[in-house]
Amino acid sequence: MKCMECGATVKKGVTTSVSEFGECVVIVRNVPCYKCTECNEIIYTADVVKQLEEIMETAKTMMQEIAVIDYSKVA
Ligand SMILES: [Zn+2]
Repeated sequence: MKCMECGATVKKGVTTSVSEFGECVVIVRNVPCYKCTECNEIIYTADVVKQLEEIMETAKTMMQEIAVIDYSKVA
């Protein structure tokens, strides 16, 4: 797989996803991703994107100001 930004090689790894919804901040740790070795662009697979959306929906219903979720425990 190649980076969509610069075309360099991407490496498998994990990252932390931070999303804001108004007053809410949802932090998801240990999200599997591909990371560009040149520009640090993060690429998620379709499965991960879908899973992240579900995690966000769950987090929103909890209505906490800050939610920290470990991806490896919920996926
Ligand atoms: Zn790149």
